[in-house]
Formats: sequence, structure tokens, C-alpha cells
Amino acid sequence: MNETPEVAVLRLGHRPGRDDRMTTHVGLTARALGADRVIFPDNAGGSLETVADITDRFGGPFEVELTDSPRGVVRNWEGQIVHLTMYGERIQDVEAEVRETSRTEPLLVVVGSEKVPFDVYEAADWNVAVTNQPHSEVAGLAVFLDRLFEGEELEREWNDADRRVVPQETGKRVESVEPNSEPTDK
Ligand code: SAM
Repeated sequence: MNETPEVAVLRLGHRPGRDDRMTTHVGLTARALGADRVIFPDNAGGSLETVADITDRFGGPFEVELTDSPRGVVRNWEGQIVHLTMYGERIQDVEAEVRETSRTEPLLVVVGSEKVPFDVYEAADWNVAVTNQPHSEVAGLAVFLDRLFEGEELEREWNDADRRVVPQETGKRVESVEPNSEPTDK
């Protein structure tokens, strides 16, 4: 996936306390499901630390950063913008066009927390709905990325991890990727 232009995720808005887990999960979902980078508002430093720690332990490449102006990121983005919103066009109607464009231009995927200002709807090249029902930014992002990458993100390899989960029918098995160390059963 890295030969193609960047796919970045922007978390628009963060209410400390109330949004901590959701903002962290936006970052973890962006990382796990194939995005290259997540950008959090600058009051979400705890979420940044968690996502950076997971990347250190479980691998990358994946970047996480803060911005003091999420709306500035939208305004100044050099590429295409998808804003995920229950009010948007149906993902199944626009995914092919978004996918095609993402092969040649960087893509910014914007998810909200509280009410999203109207200028974001206007700045977006596509306002995309994962169903027109209210649910969650984490669920919307997961479905969107899986549609964008057509499931290929599930096959990706991770670099510079210090551990790897070994898939098991039952139980938990984690293998250290340090040289000469044994797998551990948890
Ligand atoms: N009430 C807020 C508004 O009107 O903008 C949205 C709150 S919702 C809990 C938080 C975020 O989840 C939204 O900004 C959007 O990014 C995402 N979201 C919720 N439902 C969605 C859907 N059906 N499709 C796509 N994204 C959705």
C-alpha cells in the first residue's frame, strides 16, 4: 500500500475526558486498517501517546501527530477529502470513484466528534455515509477504509515490531520478534 499516495485520517474535534477512548480508537483503527497517518487535535495528547506506543510495540510504518488547527488541515490539504457523515452520499455509490482518485492523489479522511461545522461539508470532495444511520466515527472509519482498500489492508506486513500475535483457534499467543527469543503463551 505504500507505493500509492498517502491516506491520512483527521479527527476533527476532541472533548477531553468524554472523547478520550474514541479518539484513541480512531487512531488505532486508522493504523490497523491501512491508513498511513492520523492527525489529532492538540488537546488529544494522551491518545497520541497511546497510538505511538502501540506502533512502537506492534509495528508500522504509521505516523501520529497533533495539530492546533484541524480545520486548517482541511483548508490546506493538497489532495482529495472525504468527510464521513451519516448525511452524506452512500458509500456503495461513491467508493469506486474515491478509490480511483486515491491511486493518484493523497486522501484525507475526516471524522467528527461533536457537531461538524458546515465549512467541512463544503470543503469535502465527498461527504460519505456508511449507512445514513447514526453510529460511530470508529465504525464508519473501519468500514470506509476496508472498502477503500478492498480488504487488502488485512494482508499487510508490519515493520519494526517487537512482538507479533500468532493467530490461534483458541487462546493467546504472542511471539517476540527479537532474535533468539521464544514465543510466549498468555
Ligand atoms: N451529531 C454530529 C454531527 O451532526 O456532525 C455527529 C456525531 S457522530 C457520533 C461522530 C462522527 O461519527 C461523525 O462526525 C461522523 O464522522 C461519524 N459517523 C456517525 N455516523 C456515521 C455514518 N452513518 N456514516 C459515516 N460516518 C458516521
